[in-house]
Amino acid sequence: MTRVLLLGGGYVTLHAYATLLRRIGRRVRSGEVEIVVISADRAHRFHGFTGELIAGMVDSDRLATPLTEAMPDARIILGRAVDIDPLRREVVYRRDGDETDATLGYDHLVVGTGAKEPTAHVPGLREHGHTLRGPDEIGELAEQLAARPGSPVVVAGGGVAGAELAAAIADRGHPVTLVHSGARLLGEWADQPRLVARTEAELARLGVRVLAGTRLARVAASAAMLSDGTSIPAGTVVAATGQRPVRIPGLGRWRDEHGRLRTRRTLAVAPGVWAAGDGARVTHPVTGVSVPANALWAIKGGDHIGRSVARELGGRRARRFGYRGLGRAASFGFGHGIAELYGIPLTGAVAWLMRLAFFLRFMPSRRRAAAVVADLTRYAVRPRRQRVGRAAAGAPALLPTGS
Ligand SMILES: Cc1cc2nc3c(=O)[nH]c(=O)nc-3n(C[C@H](O)[C@H](O)[C@H](O)COP(=O)(O)OP(=O)(O)OC[C@H]3O[C@@H](n4cnc5c(N)ncnc54)[C@H](O)[C@@H]3O)c2cc1C
Repeated sequence: MTRVLLLGGGYVTLHAYATLLRRIGRRVRSGEVEIVVISADRAHRFHGFTGELIAGMVDSDRLATPLTEAMPDARIILGRAVDIDPLRREVVYRRDGDETDATLGYDHLVVGTGAKEPTAHVPGLREHGHTLRGPDEIGELAEQLAARPGSPVVVAGGGVAGAELAAAIADRGHPVTLVHSGARLLGEWADQPRLVARTEAELARLGVRVLAGTRLARVAASAAMLSDGTSIPAGTVVAATGQRPVRIPGLGRWRDEHGRLRTRRTLAVAPGVWAAGDGARVTHPVTGVSVPANALWAIKGGDHIGRSVARELGGRRARRFGYRGLGRAASFGFGHGIAELYGIPLTGAVAWLMRLAFFLRFMPSRRRAAAVVADLTRYAVRPRRQRVGRAAAGAPALLPTGS
């Protein structure tokens, strides 16, 4: 029997699985090829509609698809990979709730363990704040916001994730301060100044106060302390301050200076080891620069790995990854968005609808995609006064540290 081992239950592995099933489903179902998934999370999380979830537009269960449902022909092991031996082709893992390690061999290994927000450099963040990438972290944030209606919130991080999150939290009636270390928001969109300006206007419309040129330095139970010495009262602090690849020991010599797994043109890292997504450095087939860490590239990388593994299992050579990209999008409340499609900037309802159509297309479950459409329709027709109220209050006061 041949074993394909998928690490993680995110975009890369889900799409590698789906492509493998399309190509060699008969061999999988006959038991000739076994697909095993080791995942720290029991569900695949569809991050694209995080803002809609936080703003109360869609229910949380739409965005979490149990792995047993998303990958029905795979053997799912809930736990963490803790070591990889690429020479022996073995992975050491620990099941949830188990103290002992177990070992599993593989013929092909797909590393799709993604990345996490760093927490160690901000004292108090782990204890009092929120990050977004762990199992159920987004649900916990939504619950906390629901339990503290109208309380002030600080969001750290001026990238697209931070800006979308700040907009969504403001949309549900919280006064929000967005803190970021750069001069302008959306550093990764600097080549689209019109869209950056539109983002700033959208946040202003929602009453989000933006503090540039300062960092989140410390988090206490009811305040966020900044690097410029100010302290902001906050019932909730959320960090969307970039990410670090999840580093499983054993593949150190294939990692770049940021900890990403360096992939070749085929997305192979080493013989029998493949990687893509947020934990990998994948170079663009035309420009040669690293592709961005977002869902589209993780999905396309996963698809390609699925094809490559199927080809190698059929005795053929893997092809080069040739995907060239499509664009990107962000949402700032119902009907408000920005998007770039093949370099063309779009704003407003057109951008928002394009993003919606694109995300629905890539949701792992048609049933859940239909439920998202139903939720959004309900939200749109609900009388405005019944929706979560917009923040009437202004931004929280700035207090000097120690006051
Ligand atoms: C809040 C939020 C909003 C986002 N919004 C957008 C958006 O609007 N558009 C967009 O394009 N991108 C968005 N992204 C980014 C997008 O989600 C990522 O680029 C994408 O998830 C990367 O896919 P991946 O497969 O590499 O990793 P992930 O999807 O993060 O999957 C990693 C998987 O590995 C598991 N794992 C981690 N460590 C281990 C271990 N040691 N052993 C086993 N399993 C492990 C995790 O539990 C998870 O299942 C957003 C991300 C976040 C957090």
